[in-house]
Formats: sequence, structure tokens, C-alpha cells
Amino acid sequence: MKPSFLCSLIFIAGALLQPAQAATLNLDLPDIGDTAGGTISPAEERKYGEAFMREIRQSLKVMDDAEINEYMRSLGYQLAAHSDNQSLGFSFFVVENRDINAFAGPGGFIGVNSGLILATESESELASVLAHEIGHVTQRHLARTIEKADKLNIPATAAMLAAIIIGTRNSQLGQAALATAQAGTAQVQINFTRANEEEADRVGLQTLARADFDPRSMPVFFERLQKSSRYAGASAPEFLRTHPVTESRIADTRNRAEQYPYRQISDNLNYHLIRAKLRVMQEGSPRQAVVRFAAALKSGQYRNQAAEHYGYALALLGNGDYAAARGELRALQTADKERIAYISALAQVDLADNQAARALRSYEDALKLFPGNPVLTLGYSRALLQNGQADKARRLLEEYVRRQAPEPGLYKLLADAEIAAGQKAAAHQALAEHYYLNGQTMAAIEQLQSGIKASDADFYRASQMEARLKELQDQAALESKH
Ligand SMILES: [Zn+2]
Repeated sequence: MKPSFLCSLIFIAGALLQPAQAATLNLDLPDIGDTAGGTISPAEERKYGEAFMREIRQSLKVMDDAEINEYMRSLGYQLAAHSDNQSLGFSFFVVENRDINAFAGPGGFIGVNSGLILATESESELASVLAHEIGHVTQRHLARTIEKADKLNIPATAAMLAAIIIGTRNSQLGQAALATAQAGTAQVQINFTRANEEEADRVGLQTLARADFDPRSMPVFFERLQKSSRYAGASAPEFLRTHPVTESRIADTRNRAEQYPYRQISDNLNYHLIRAKLRVMQEGSPRQAVVRFAAALKSGQYRNQAAEHYGYALALLGNGDYAAARGELRALQTADKERIAYISALAQVDLADNQAARALRSYEDALKLFPGNPVLTLGYSRALLQNGQADKARRLLEEYVRRQAPEPGLYKLLADAEIAAGQKAAAHQALAEHYYLNGQTMAAIEQLQSGIKASDADFYRASQMEARLKELQDQAALESKH
């Protein structure tokens, strides 16, 4: 594990300014995000965030696992609801990467590496990283930068922000992206300010306490990162070398955290289940994961027993040991019948083991208990699709897509269902959104052009696609300028 932290948010105020101006700006950053001072509105910032996210998806592996995404969203929203500015929009996502890092982009898009989730030892530690990043957003640290960049177009600014953020974590990728971003714009000056980090720590601690997490976890986690980074030496990424988690930052955070009354806080089981799932994914092979989890269970060396059995069951499923996987999951269910993670894993065992009818029934029963649940809805749709019920899957997904934040994986699944159901125009339309969200504007345009010409495109759908085509062509023109 290569620790590379912290935090990235990047301090960007000043990133797009001349060095002298940046220094001035840093000195008089107000304490709380102002709305009157000419800062762009949250709605405008959100547009930069969406463009930023498309850039991120081109360079980083954003995880597409419904359970992991759901957990991060619910943890993130729980914190955001106790932040200083609850009116801002937030989106939380996980990047598949072993490096320990987290970052906040514009518009409340907050990314956490899988390596960071695995490096935490309690849910409050993970919450403290999210609370810190939420702090950067509510204090509008990035919004002020964008305000200064108003001469640039949205895709160019978003590309630059993404390049700077990625550049702190992957120098090769970041340098290339940065060179591209710089080519058509003003000179980029990267600045990290201690004042911003301190402010995000301070408001993060408040958020943690209000949301019933343990503020003391923040200095504990920082300290662990600092210790592990000592051994990384020259291999530590650039960001850690230029912007370390200092002794004084830890001491400062500890002093502040200790002002809050002590409380015993227990972790949500889903935190441990997600970590077990990530550990299984991180193993070289399912076989290796089976061996690892079996050994941990045998020796009793684990943090949470149920999660260890759950991880073992997922490893067994991956390894094709369906009977053993089913046995583990049923045992877990006896004490915890309505746990979505168990229901969903059991259905997947059934599907893999040619018990499709039983898997479909489990999803249907569970969806009565948890209507609209993302994990169950997506699992059910996949099961329908695998079992020749493409039309039912596509109807379910079309309805679901309307209620959800747009995600490329969701549109890919919808496109698969449309194709299987013989719906050509609709398949092109869904694929267009899939490509667009992944930052591939030209590929999206090609899909729309094909969709408009498809033999089954009715007037309503064709007009929808025509309008979208126009939007994306305008966007492509802007993108070609940077
Ligand atoms: Zn930070």
C-alpha cells in the first residue's frame, strides 16, 4: 500500500491566477462561503462539477458497484446533512486505486480511493476524511477559483481542475493532462494553502460531531497516515512530499477534537461489509481470497465476524463454490434477515448456480420490502436480462433511470436491455448517455446520429435525440478549444 495523502483538495484558489494575485487571495479568504461576494452560484458550480466528473472518468477507474456506491452515498449524505451548508448538492464516488487518497472537485463531487477505505479502521475514520472534503465544498474553496476563471469555458476549466487533482496522485497521467489543459489557457500556478486545509479540518470536526461520529478519529487517522508515509520515502507521490500531514496539523486537530465530549460510537455493519467486499476484489484471484478469508476466520483475526463470513462467502461465490457460499450467507441471514447485502449475494449465488427462478423470486420479495432500492433494482434487472426477460428489464430500468443521478454504468445496463429487447433507437440513445458521461462526446454524438436514423425511432424519441445532439455538438465545439 502506498500512502499518498492528504488531501488533496488541491488547493486551488490561485491555481488559475498569477502567483502574486494568488498570494493575496489566500490571505483574505473569508471564513464561511459567501454568496454575495461574486462567487459563482452553487448551480453554476454544479455544471463545472459535471464536466469535472466526465474528465475524471476518462482517467480514473470510478467504481460501478451498486452496494459500494450506495454505502458511500448514505455515509456522505448523513455528513452533508450536518454540514454548514446543506443546500449544496453532493455526489460521492469511489475510485479503484490502492493509494490512500480522497479529493473534492467542484460542485460537491467527492471521490475516495478504495485504498483509503481499506486503510481506515473505523467508520468514524472514513467519515472524518469525507467530512474534511465536505468542508472544502461548503467553504467554497473551489468555487472562488472558478470565479477567477470566468474567461475560460466550462470544459477547459474542468479539465484543468481534473488535471491538477489527478496530477497530485499520478504524476505521469497528471503531467500529460496538465500539459493538454495548459496548452490553450493561461499559465497554471498550483498552490496549496495550509489555511484551507486547516479550515476544512475544523469544519469537518464540527460536522463529524453533529452527525454522531467520533471527532477524535480524525487525528487518529492522520497520525496513522503520517506513520505509514515515513516508510514510503522517495516513492511517496509528489503531493505527500510537498504537502505532508504535519505534526502540527495532527496536534491541532487533536486539540480541537478533544473539545468534544467523548462518546462510544459503534460502526454501521455496512461499513465492515463494504470493506470485506473491497478486500475480496483486491485479491489476485477468487481462490486466493478464499484462502485468505478462511485463514482469518480460523485464527479469529478479524475486526468484524459477520463481515469476515460475508467476505468469505463472496470469495467462495467467485471461486464457484456455490453450496459453501450459500451456507455462509444463510447462516448470516438467520440473525439478520433483511440485510440487503446478504439478500443480494444469495441471489447472485443462485444466478451463478442456475437457480434463476429462485433468484428472481428473492429480488421480487426484497423489492416489496425496499421499493426502489438501487442494489436490488439493478440486481433484479440483470437477473431478468440474463433470463430472457429483456422487455421487463428495460421497462424497469427506463423508469429507474429517470429517478437517479446519471451514471454511465446504469446507461450501459439500460442499453444492454434495449438491445436484447430489440429496441434499436432506445439502445443508441442510452449508449449515447453512457459515452457522454464517460467523457467521450464524439462517440455519444455518433450514437445519437445512428439513433435518429434507426427504423424504430418514433417522432417523440427522434425529437428528443435531435435536441440532445444539438447540445452535445455545442459541447464538442467548446471541448475542441482546450
Ligand atoms: Zn484537504
